[in-house]
Amino acid sequence: MPHPLPASARAWQDKVRRFVDEELIPFEVEAEMNGGVLPEGVRDRHRCRAREIGLHALAIPKQYGGQGLTALEQAVISEQVGRVTNALGWCYSSTPPWMLEACAGDAHQMQTWVLPNIRGERRECYAITEEHAGSDVNAIRATAQRDGDAYVLDGEKWHVTSANHADHFIFQAPLTDGPHAGRHALFFVDMDTPGVTLVRTPAYSHTYAAHHPIYRFDGVRVPAANRIGAEGDGMDFTYAWFRYERLGIAARCCGAAARLIDEATSFAKQREQYGEPIANFQAIQFMLADSLTELWAARLMTYRTAEAIDAGEDVKVLHAQCAMAKVYASEMANRVADRAVQIFGGRGYMRENVAERFFRELRVDRIWEGTSEIQRIIIANGLYKRGQRALAE
Ligand SMILES: Cc1cc2nc3c(=O)[nH]c(=O)nc-3n(C[C@H](O)[C@H](O)[C@H](O)COP(=O)(O)OP(=O)(O)OC[C@H]3O[C@@H](n4cnc5c(N)ncnc54)[C@H](O)[C@@H]3O)c2cc1C
Repeated sequence: MPHPLPASARAWQDKVRRFVDEELIPFEVEAEMNGGVLPEGVRDRHRCRAREIGLHALAIPKQYGGQGLTALEQAVISEQVGRVTNALGWCYSSTPPWMLEACAGDAHQMQTWVLPNIRGERRECYAITEEHAGSDVNAIRATAQRDGDAYVLDGEKWHVTSANHADHFIFQAPLTDGPHAGRHALFFVDMDTPGVTLVRTPAYSHTYAAHHPIYRFDGVRVPAANRIGAEGDGMDFTYAWFRYERLGIAARCCGAAARLIDEATSFAKQREQYGEPIANFQAIQFMLADSLTELWAARLMTYRTAEAIDAGEDVKVLHAQCAMAKVYASEMANRVADRAVQIFGGRGYMRENVAERFFRELRVDRIWEGTSEIQRIIIANGLYKRGQRALAE
């Protein structure tokens, strides 16, 4: 029996599944063979079709031009988007809710960055991680120094995802002085601000059109009006962003595993060795059975966490539950991808094969937005402070 989703979530699931199957999946291999890049006309059509079916600013209330969807509806959509490789699902604006919450009271920031972002006219990227500060965000060496009605920003940022498609950064740095010295603040920094330079664009395991370059910020002067929220609020926004992203990763990993199970099952049924379909061999059955069982567990965890967000449950509990969903679903999807490669045999090692692509692509889901180790630390801290009943009953 399918999970008892509300009718609205089921309708989104059907609509986005069709879009992914008919519009995106057919272009995966072409993207893989072309550095992740599709012809301009194809990308435009994907964006246009996504918009037509309502894929834009899903988390943003309707009064601001978004879709105002529940966390559960968003999870169901992310799951479908996760079924396609090469990040071809990144074809719609996905303004995070924290940005609206932080900027709603600031007319200038709303008009300049947030509303254009919601409309898909502008796009942000996140400049938080540094060469010496990844998991340990408090070790960030970048600085934000107040100078009259401006701040001067310095530092070097790594792995800035989608910077080649963005026109502004969300830049995080501790303040050097004033009453909040040492605490972190976030800033909108337009890419063409003097002092911003692209250092280099490293190659990564996956083949995505979105790059993850390194950027330097040397004496970058931005008006105080670019600071997001109050001085020292930076980490709170970053934690809200992490929760949102971690649940999205969990959902996308469920989608990837679901696709892999479907593909590996249909291959196993038609591939014959020793005179019969390999699906008859218990070794293959066990891999598929374990994959399906683990997918179900991850999906239930992901949906339940989304429902808890919609119910407005305690944010500290949600923080641990998002960590559990992320660590479990991402590690589950990696195991499923490994088994799928094995079931496809030599074909599973070819870049034209979906299992090969997911085998590489899913690896980063155990690293970005907080590694598996960091998720486990969050979960253990939650367990010590709040107890098992609060987190997992
Ligand atoms: C493709 C990609 C895209 C990214 N996009 C962005 C982006 O857009 N913006 C951005 O700011 N960042 C981005 N990141 C950075 C990402 O969030 C970090 O890579 C991640 O948080 C880990 O940091 P690190 O790489 O510095 O590893 P480190 O923090 O140096 O960790 C190295 C290893 O040590 C382990 N470790 C660290 N601390 C502990 C501990 N206390 N206990 C146990 N183990 C520990 C880690 O789990 C890991 O296994 C991206 C990274 C990648 C790979």
